[in-house]
Amino acid sequence: MTDLLSLSSRIIDEGVDEGPVNRITQELSVLSDHWSIVESFSHVVSLKTEEGLVCFDTSLRQTAEAVIGSIRSWSTDPFHALIYTHGHVDHVGGAALFINEAQERGDPRPRVVGHENVSERFDRYRLTSGYNLTVNGRQFGGLRGMMEGVRLGGAQSFLPADTPAPDLSFRDRTRMGVGGIEIELRHARGETDDHLWAWIPATRTICAGDFFIWNFPNAGNPQKAQRYPAEWAVALREMAAMGAELFIPAHGLPIAGAERIARVLNDVAGALESLVRQTLERMNAGEPLDQILTGVELAPELLERPYMRPLYDEPEFVVRNIWRLYGGWYDGNPAHLKPAPESRLAREVCALAGGAAALVKRAEELAEAEEWRLACHLIELAAQAVPDDRAVHGVRADLYARRRQSETSLMAKGIYGYASRTSRAIASDRD
Ligand SMILES: [Zn+2]
Repeated sequence: MTDLLSLSSRIIDEGVDEGPVNRITQELSVLSDHWSIVESFSHVVSLKTEEGLVCFDTSLRQTAEAVIGSIRSWSTDPFHALIYTHGHVDHVGGAALFINEAQERGDPRPRVVGHENVSERFDRYRLTSGYNLTVNGRQFGGLRGMMEGVRLGGAQSFLPADTPAPDLSFRDRTRMGVGGIEIELRHARGETDDHLWAWIPATRTICAGDFFIWNFPNAGNPQKAQRYPAEWAVALREMAAMGAELFIPAHGLPIAGAERIARVLNDVAGALESLVRQTLERMNAGEPLDQILTGVELAPELLERPYMRPLYDEPEFVVRNIWRLYGGWYDGNPAHLKPAPESRLAREVCALAGGAAALVKRAEELAEAEEWRLACHLIELAAQAVPDDRAVHGVRADLYARRRQSETSLMAKGIYGYASRTSRAIASDRD
């Protein structure tokens, strides 16, 4: 077995913690005679056939050149096809560079293959480019340069403007034969509505895209479009039943062995199913969102498995997405239906408390007791009541920096880190 596969086996079987499993090295590892992977953001997984290379995903615009260089150390065959597992920028952003490389070498243009909803996603990205740039600046605040959008001649855009839409798309399932190797593409909604996973019977391999990411599934992302936890679980169960011997996700390590692959997929499916079941039961019983958020639970030992840790997304956010998917935006609190502007409410509460300083003092006490949720409410009220007060923003900056430390998920850390930086800038502004 290759290094990556024996590493993933050890981590899954023995629970050993050998450092990060999601690596962005741009290095290629050979997985078998047919398969290689370049660990990047996202990975690029290549299948060698007699008609050329079939690549699953193309990484980011910023990393694609290095990725292509690594693939070329393994094979100089032309790129026959680029298959988008879904339309997220870290999977499609590098595609134009693969196509340019083919052109420079005088190879035929690689075919681009993806689900039929990929084009609609690209349209949406063009409509919401500024929003998505802002969101990724918050979400990936620590990964400078990686997710910052691309400037190609004109304005900065979230999706590189020359990203090709699929030439070949499908709705539910399709098959393609390349160099005598059959590739079966199956659509399922999960992280996105344009996701596919691939089954290659000849090598008993699954390319899973982001259905499995070596973290708690990204099914709740607070700043992004709808995710589909129930359908995600169905897809994972379907993959688990295939008897695959090699499983290659687009983030994290590849996994070998049918039993091991089925075990991890069924584990993740079970966690998602439990969140959906609990949330729907409570929705059907008429509970408001607030009560559901505090009531739904997963067994803590599930979240300790090395491929289910809430380091990227987290269950609480998934519950909110389940509510959003099956319900309306009204959360059950009538004051939230047509609320006062937040600053008006903040000034009222501030006046009742005897001034912003009282709120700040209590926020600091609560932070000392690690009552982060309450502490943040109070510091927000103070900052909204006196938005130009540097001292208040100084406390707010410290409080969110500490809360960031106390959180596990990148999504929570990103948002709290952004809040902290915003207040730090106001607090240190000298005029
Ligand atoms: Zn991804």
